[in-house]
Amino acid sequence: MSAAAKPQRTVVVTGGSRGIGRAVCLAFADTQTHVFFNYHSAGGAADKTLKMIAAAGGQATALQADVSSESQVSAFFKRVLEKSGRVDVLVNNAGVTRDQLLVRMKTGDWDTVLDTNLKGTFLCCRAVAKTMMKQRYGRIINLTSVVAFSGNPGQANYAASKAGIAGLTRAVARELASRGITANAVAPGFVETDMTAGLSENARAAMVDQIPLGRVGTPEDVAAAVTFLASDQAAYITGQVIHVSGGMYM
Ligand code: NAP
Repeated sequence: MSAAAKPQRTVVVTGGSRGIGRAVCLAFADTQTHVFFNYHSAGGAADKTLKMIAAAGGQATALQADVSSESQVSAFFKRVLEKSGRVDVLVNNAGVTRDQLLVRMKTGDWDTVLDTNLKGTFLCCRAVAKTMMKQRYGRIINLTSVVAFSGNPGQANYAASKAGIAGLTRAVARELASRGITANAVAPGFVETDMTAGLSENARAAMVDQIPLGRVGTPEDVAAAVTFLASDQAAYITGQVIHVSGGMYM
């Protein structure tokens, strides 16, 4: 790589192999940015994201790491810092659902969702905090959900994890603001990805009925809000949640 092409910005995206995370990685892809993303399951999805970023003229590195594992998160950020020496933007996107009505919800499914979504976001925020403080610059963007605010039957674990992320984001925003670091959240509504692919046609139609803008969201709709929060134009915004839901929740 020539000196002229050296990336000036390091962006880290968790769960960049598919869905919204892939769209976020692509939205950051340019010659001045190195995108590091992680994924959980072995498979070709991460390779596909890498190829798409390269085709868009960007530079990227994919590493396997489970965000719910403290040791794997540490190892992931150690590799990122060895390669780049800085983290300008962290997007905590990795997330899972294990939907079930409260009375039937298994404790293991509660733990998996809270450990991945909430603890994973905490571990990654903590892993970058010192680096961003030294830089006196950083942008943290966490993926929450409209259901953190509206609730949703069958999603006690998921809604609790996403409400936790909203509170975590505000606490981090207050703690790190004096060091030039902002922390915000994006709350998607119903977005077409693998996460929502299991819904029946009827359930999907019922969902679309609740969206004033009359369509489901795309991963790119969400990525646009994420890149805005990472941009210079958003320098005076911290501790906020931007809803990207077609008005599903307002
Ligand atoms: P998705 O298509 O199911 O993709 C999930 C991503 O997270 C994948 O890249 C997956 O990696 C990764 N991941 C899952 N568990 C992980 C773990 N333990 N460690 C590291 N990575 C892990 O989901 P999505 O719809 O794009 O959702 C992205 C985010 O937006 C999530 O936080 C979700 O809660 C939120 N959100 C989505 C919607 C929606 O309607 N889709 C609405 C509101 C909020 P692998 O490919 O390796 O499995």
